[in-house]
Amino acid sequence: MARIVQKFGGTSVGDIDRIKNVARKVEAEVKAGHQVAVVVSAMSGVTNQLVAYCRQISGLYDAREYDAVVASGEQVTSGLLAIALQELGIPARSWQGWQLPMRTDDVHAKARILGVDTTEIETRLARGEVAVVAGFQGLGTDGRITTLGRGGSDTSAVALAAALNAERCDIYTDVDGVYTTDPRIVTKARKLSRITYEEMLEMASQGAKVLQTRSVEMAMNHRVRVQVLSSFAEARGSEIPGTLVVDEEEIMEQEVVSGIAYSRDEAKITLLGVADRPGVAAAIFGPLAEASINVDMIVQNISENGSLTDMTFTVAKTELERTRQVLEQARALLDYRSIRTDANVVKVSVIGVGMRSHTGVAQRMFRTLAEKGINIQVITTSEIKVSVLIAEEYTELALRALHTAYGLDRA
Ligand code: ASP
Ligand code: MG
Repeated sequence: MARIVQKFGGTSVGDIDRIKNVARKVEAEVKAGHQVAVVVSAMSGVTNQLVAYCRQISGLYDAREYDAVVASGEQVTSGLLAIALQELGIPARSWQGWQLPMRTDDVHAKARILGVDTTEIETRLARGEVAVVAGFQGLGTDGRITTLGRGGSDTSAVALAAALNAERCDIYTDVDGVYTTDPRIVTKARKLSRITYEEMLEMASQGAKVLQTRSVEMAMNHRVRVQVLSSFAEARGSEIPGTLVVDEEEIMEQEVVSGIAYSRDEAKITLLGVADRPGVAAAIFGPLAEASINVDMIVQNISENGSLTDMTFTVAKTELERTRQVLEQARALLDYRSIRTDANVVKVSVIGVGMRSHTGVAQRMFRTLAEKGINIQVITTSEIKVSVLIAEEYTELALRALHTAYGLDRA
């Protein structure tokens, strides 16, 4: 007998039939003798609709009231799933974030979890009752409902699994695991049976949208074993049909490269003709930081004549216009010749903890792209990742070529 947390995403609870299907998934684990706590998202599309309602009334809505509105999607599905379980003869009770409570700070609309009180549900789990917890929401220090940011129910589930000391946190979604790359683009992509926390963190933050990045961070910090699996497949979670996100020690044979991620969400900005002297980078990125604009990749060219250089960096595509405005406002101070922007870019990243002990990984990437005639615009590296920025039209070509070059293709 083990204690398991199961989390079901929006498509898994998208309508009444699907909620009944989820109830059967929960039933299977209960029948196998496990204690089960479930975390649910809102029905797919509902949160978007709720956000849209707020925006239709006000461009500058009060974040506390936004939270009161958008948290309601999960309230509905938690109650419905509890009813569906009761229909199957399984004792179940729904829990809202404030009822546990799931305590958060009071940064409304993107609150962080401070701690989860599980006393009451632990007593009930021990009696065989299933706890159905509304994901995405918590209780702020101001005593009001908070939400954790879009996609936050993954983080709710991992937090609950950590607090309950659960054996595993099964994240049920519409794909059957984590793939070496996007299978919609590379048909030879393989499902990984295991991936390390660090790799998953990079995959999630480099564009693979299967888990919220913060949930992976939390799983890594609290050593929660997470499984990504499909709610539409037959197998029971405890048979481990999906991808396990685990500690490096749990992986016997580590590939050099485990996966290739891509993100079309970034845009490139080049400041031409900036002075090549101390303090320039600080002068450029200071105003951007003040405007809460996140900068990702950065390259500074060396200057031809020792006085002027170019600075290239990337920001989120959605922030491109704002970034341009901030830089134009700071123009007198920064003294650059001109700004060039390019939203037609994609960032492709190869990821693998095996890079720590193998050389030539970056070189293989550069050679593969060169052979396909793909120009690399910006490069960044970390201990377990090499990222390049290329023209967006090469996304498919680059992913397929790299997937083959690193030996990731399915046989
Ligand atoms: N329902 C919320 C959202 O759509 C939270 C979640 O699904 O993870 O962002
Ligand atoms: Mg999600």
